[in-house]
Amino acid sequence: MKLVTILYLLCWCCSTLDAGELSQKNNQWYLDGQATLSDKLATVANTNTAKNVILVVSDGNGVGANYAARVWRGQQEGGYGDDYVMAYEKFPHLALAKTYTVNAMTPDSAGTMTAMMTGIKTDQGLIGVDETILRGSCLEEGVGQVTSFASMAKALGKKVAIVSTARLTHATPAAVYAHSSDRDFEDDTALPADCTQPDIAQQLITKMLSGDVDVALGGGRRHFIDHATIDEEGQAGQRGDGQNLIARARRHGVQYVWDPATLAAVDYSQPILGLFASSHMEYEADRTSDPALKTMTQAAVRAVEKHPAGYFLMIEAGRVDHALHGGNLARAVQEQNALESAVAWLVEHVNLAETLLIVTADHEHSIAFNGYCGRGSNILGFCMQINKQAIKHTDEPLLGKDGKPYEVVSFTNGASSILQEVPEEEWYLDITNQDIQHALAWSGTRKTHQLAEDFHADHDHRQEALIPLHAETHSGEDVAIYSIGPWSHLLNGTLEQNVIFHVMQHAVRQ
Ligand SMILES: [Zn+2]
Repeated sequence: MKLVTILYLLCWCCSTLDAGELSQKNNQWYLDGQATLSDKLATVANTNTAKNVILVVSDGNGVGANYAARVWRGQQEGGYGDDYVMAYEKFPHLALAKTYTVNAMTPDSAGTMTAMMTGIKTDQGLIGVDETILRGSCLEEGVGQVTSFASMAKALGKKVAIVSTARLTHATPAAVYAHSSDRDFEDDTALPADCTQPDIAQQLITKMLSGDVDVALGGGRRHFIDHATIDEEGQAGQRGDGQNLIARARRHGVQYVWDPATLAAVDYSQPILGLFASSHMEYEADRTSDPALKTMTQAAVRAVEKHPAGYFLMIEAGRVDHALHGGNLARAVQEQNALESAVAWLVEHVNLAETLLIVTADHEHSIAFNGYCGRGSNILGFCMQINKQAIKHTDEPLLGKDGKPYEVVSFTNGASSILQEVPEEEWYLDITNQDIQHALAWSGTRKTHQLAEDFHADHDHRQEALIPLHAETHSGEDVAIYSIGPWSHLLNGTLEQNVIFHVMQHAVRQ
């Protein structure tokens, strides 16, 4: 090619790539993209020492579940939903976490939270111990135990606070403070016979009395009192050893609160144990007497924020997971939005120059999104046809080959499976081939055409599922890690989940 031609081509490229000349330069999408670029260019890595670390874990809120929560929130605000931005989605740094555990492709909350809290992966069902421990065995003192970030924070003189809408003895909060060979050892009744390993509830109280945990707010009262003891809300305890761990904590100066009124009257300068429900706390969608996740978050922050050496706070939205296990998207998205409210308050309230704030999930669920839905299709309803002449969908749902509408969201397994077991007396007994008989023992058909017109407004509605299981399951997909504050730029790329610990550790030690 002649030099003149090359120069001409170069010049042509330069002129056509000049942003000022692009024909789309006044398009709003283009302008928004340029604004985002400017924000990115202005981002400066924060290399301060993290005085405080806040780890927010939404149990089960993988990238798919989060998409549903985002669209729901945006639609609640009157928009199409997909363009809504959750408070944590504004954070400057993002990574994906690989959530598998040592022996599980699809993980549980015990193994995943142990990874985040200790920096190592371990087996399914284990809390604060490595994979040399056999799940369900009796743990010998000191064997296999690994150190939690909460203990490290304590060693640096920080306060430690735990907030969860699940039982405080459930896997995620337990992994902050406990060592257990089984997540199910929530009280003494679940332990193997003659095993002296302290149960999880007992470990929490021990840690509160030793000053290793300063604030713990959540559910699970039943695991702290004996089965013969009735709690403030008329529920019996579950312990079998006659112990009342709440009374023991109170005798040693820990304040006990059990409802919004007692929480509101608390002395923030003293340790606080809040047990607001016998088991898990109420779903946000049904909440009547329990404090909101945001209220507990505010109380925990107020209790620790004046401490000169700072604090570590773990907040769990524990019931996103439970709603998804039920195939019940309506409750799941409201749980996630309760967490978003708590995070929005944190962003406003804490000093992000000295606070590393991480929002993540422990694992994803078997949630799936169907069809080529038009904009604004109700995330809890049917997938509607794209409108060629307008942004908003048409009034017609898309149909499957069976002629029936389908929902935007399905689950690939769960109790709401379209396959149901056929009673033996209804089997096609004229079919003599036993293989065919067996295949027909579970059969079904989609019934979406029978749904009431406003089914999406029903909080109890379960999305369609395929594989019939007792409960919908987790999945092994990646989850997002959103972060802001000191050293959050290190949470970048596709990471093993246990790297979260290493970044937290680095941030507080700098
Ligand atoms: Zn789960």
